[in-house]
Amino acid sequence: GTGSANVVVGIIDSGMDYRHEDLKANVFTNSSEDAWSDPLNPATGNKIDDDHNGYVDDWKGWNFVNNTNDPNDDNSHGTHVAGTIGAVGNNGVGVTGVCWQVRLLPLKFLNANGEGNTYNAAKAITYAADLKIKILNNSWGGTDNATYLLEAVQYAADKGVLFVAAAGNDGLNTDEYPNYPACYEVSNIISVAASDQSDQRALWGGEDNPSDDCGFTCSNVMAATPGSNYGPHSVDLAAPGKAIWSTVPGGYARFDGTSMASPHVAGAAALIWSKYPGLSSTQVRERLFANVDQVAGFAGVVATNGRLNLFKAMQ
Ligand code: CA
Repeated sequence: GTGSANVVVGIIDSGMDYRHEDLKANVFTNSSEDAWSDPLNPATGNKIDDDHNGYVDDWKGWNFVNNTNDPNDDNSHGTHVAGTIGAVGNNGVGVTGVCWQVRLLPLKFLNANGEGNTYNAAKAITYAADLKIKILNNSWGGTDNATYLLEAVQYAADKGVLFVAAAGNDGLNTDEYPNYPACYEVSNIISVAASDQSDQRALWGGEDNPSDDCGFTCSNVMAATPGSNYGPHSVDLAAPGKAIWSTVPGGYARFDGTSMASPHVAGAAALIWSKYPGLSSTQVRERLFANVDQVAGFAGVVATNGRLNLFKAMQ
């Protein structure tokens, strides 16, 4: 499988470099909204909310930080996540996403410093659910257990949206120290830990600590060894999250974090849905869980005891 333009993944993050050479062919456009006359210039919309959803000229996503129709990425985190999900495959440049053909919808709520508030995140989730997209990637989190955020995630679940979330980077057991939205008890959530090149739980320290630049608000309780969060109840599976090479504005870079693991799972879900469009979000979730490779490094560490295996999940 190489994916499908019919599958849309919403990326709730710092935005996306939608002009990037390796992303632009896979950027979502809202066909119910008037097109920007210059496809790369959000100021060229017709200033009319053509689809009556409350957002004017939201042709390529939305910026919930500034409440504008320009979700361009001024941080780099969201562009990196986008490339892992769906950088264009087999085009002779850059990298390739897990899903070669897909539609990437940037929903910017993290600012240039990688900081955002859960109220804007909830608005972004609701916006995406109303667009009837299939998958949301959430490479962000914190200890703020806000009711309106939970309600937005539940709203998305009720609309059949699969909600993929990073487990967090504090090196903690989130069964004891929950991180949201990954730890909400909502049926559509997949919480993703980060694995390393040896199929162990990814650890980091010093300059590698990704908590500083990826939207996570650090827990008050820091583990002795910073690394991927885990939890035999609250975290579902692992996916690669160490030294991940992907797109950043104008180029490419290598990042660490559960923020990089979550988009591997979101991309996998997109590829599965491109092959089996009739599956429900529950069925895609179960298919991912049932087909992990059960490796020693994740036995008793995550609920499935394993790491993503997309090939098995596609069969
Ligand atoms: Ca609109």
